[in-house]
Amino acid sequence: MSVFKDIPNLHTHTKLCKHAAGVPEEYCAEAEKVSNILGFSDHCPFPDGRYGKERMEFSELKHYCQLIEQASEKYPGMQLLAGAEVEWCNDMGRNFYNEVLLGEFNLDYLVGSAHYSGFDLGNQEHFFYQQPSPDVTRDFVDVTLKLIESGIFTYVAHPDAFMVPYTEVTKEHESMFREIISAAIQYDVPLEINAGGVRTKRSYPNRVFWEIASEYPTLQTVVNADAHKPEQLYNEDHSTALNIALDLKLNICNLSVAQNIIKGKKK
Ligand SMILES: [Zn+2]
Ligand SMILES: [Zn+2]
Repeated sequence: MSVFKDIPNLHTHTKLCKHAAGVPEEYCAEAEKVSNILGFSDHCPFPDGRYGKERMEFSELKHYCQLIEQASEKYPGMQLLAGAEVEWCNDMGRNFYNEVLLGEFNLDYLVGSAHYSGFDLGNQEHFFYQQPSPDVTRDFVDVTLKLIESGIFTYVAHPDAFMVPYTEVTKEHESMFREIISAAIQYDVPLEINAGGVRTKRSYPNRVFWEIASEYPTLQTVVNADAHKPEQLYNEDHSTALNIALDLKLNICNLSVAQNIIKGKKK
């Protein structure tokens, strides 16, 4: 029996985001071997097309939901959750998230991600391409804290991904890790151990981040594949991410998070 049986994946992309492969049905075919729950969280588009190179068009969002619906019909034994991985943008206001995405489009859940530094849209850096800079790092932490405190997001993805340009963890980094972890506990928001960083050999999951996290017994975590291809579900990289959580005895909450999403479904 797979160790992943009770750890449904809640971070799954589709080819609509322009840098992933496969449609929801293909991910279901892979996921059903292990779990009867699968959460989709493709990169969420914005009405003005910002960050458009790495996501579907806003006009495709309905189609994305329909593809998940169709997959659900084809895999009636599976509980599919239609979510989106989305950045916090001050100028969009809470309405966009609550009324448009969760309301109008009836998404089941939103994953908060700091892919870009800070809140100044004209002056943001992507976490893959940033140069080491204390200011940019701080900007990533501020966005991460905002995601946690907003009360909008079901969990926060790769909270340690801002460490990509660093090979060493400084005392300053450690205190930022503690800020993020403490906020996650205070606001009751799970933090994600992301297998995408294992797969791409970036410096996350950051071992020191999660060692510090293990000092906080009430922190909730989720372990996810961040699958950009169906075969990335429950593969070796996903297992590596899971082993970090098991090794450090972190609270793995994927199942209860999924069950809460299912309870809140309006359909
Ligand atoms: Zn992401
Ligand atoms: Zn992702």
